[in-house]
Amino acid sequence: MSKGLFDLSGKVALVTGGNSGIGLGFARGIAKQGGDVVIWGRNADKNAEAVEELKGFGVRASANSVDVSSQEDVVAGFVALMEEYGRVDTVIANAGMPPNTQSCLTATAEQYHELLGTNMHGAFYTLQEGAKHMVARAEAGEPGGSLVFCGSLSMFQGVPGIVGYAAAKGGIGAVVRCMAAELGKFGIRANNIAPGYIKTGFMGGDRDGQIEPPEKWSDIDKYFASKAAIARPGFPQDFEGIAAYLASDASSWHTGDTLVIDGAALIMM
Ligand code: NDP
Repeated sequence: MSKGLFDLSGKVALVTGGNSGIGLGFARGIAKQGGDVVIWGRNADKNAEAVEELKGFGVRASANSVDVSSQEDVVAGFVALMEEYGRVDTVIANAGMPPNTQSCLTATAEQYHELLGTNMHGAFYTLQEGAKHMVARAEAGEPGGSLVFCGSLSMFQGVPGIVGYAAAKGGIGAVVRCMAAELGKFGIRANNIAPGYIKTGFMGGDRDGQIEPPEKWSDIDKYFASKAAIARPGFPQDFEGIAAYLASDASSWHTGDTLVIDGAALIMM
């Protein structure tokens, strides 16, 4: 059956942190539309399990053990990807560590920099390296490509106790807008996704996080559900469609934006 506007056959996507949670949701969305997927994560067992599942959609899938906070690792990861697939059409910088407790008064420089290392610098290394490959291809006569950053509602809100996390998400949100402005001439799009409260390993959920009935929600799930217009927590499954959209020609003129995927929690607050 034709996948039409969202057809990703012949395209290759990289999803960092694609072995669980929201990243696995992104990876599934791409694979379901026929796109090949490379995932990066530090845990080889989690990587292997996700790759097996993704191959079940009839696409090529593979993983590399990459720590995105190391620029050396990221560059080596792209070398491996290009050797194996020869192209990258979509790069989703999703890998991230949880906010931890970081009061603006007591966060140590070490805690602050550790968070920035993965959530900010790691995302930048990934998007920059991906952009270089896309620009090289554009200069060889094939413009296009989609860069995506997984941000958070902390890009818009003041949240107590998450200074490093918010700095990273807000900072890369700005970087992505600069990339959209600078790279549009190559046909390259760059967008942020800002998820609301999503049940993943971050939030005490599991790796799969399929939509589940209210009887299974914890008190914290119920609290966040009460904040959203569509009154439930988010799940990785909610991110399949947005990945397929941003990776495909369906979003061919959509760039420099932040897409809020939160059941309308932000506008209700
Ligand atoms: P998960 O814990 O399920 O996923 C985090 C992923 O990031 C894992 O695949 C992990 O793999 C990978 N990862 C972490 N650190 C690194 C690293 N240094 N190098 C490479 N991979 C790394 O959580 P989520 O799915 O919830 O988080 C994904 C993104 O979504 C994050 O950027 C987070 O900030 C964002 N987000 C989450 C929200 C939520 O409510 N859950 C809300 C808003 C944003 P491994 O352990 O194998 O390295």
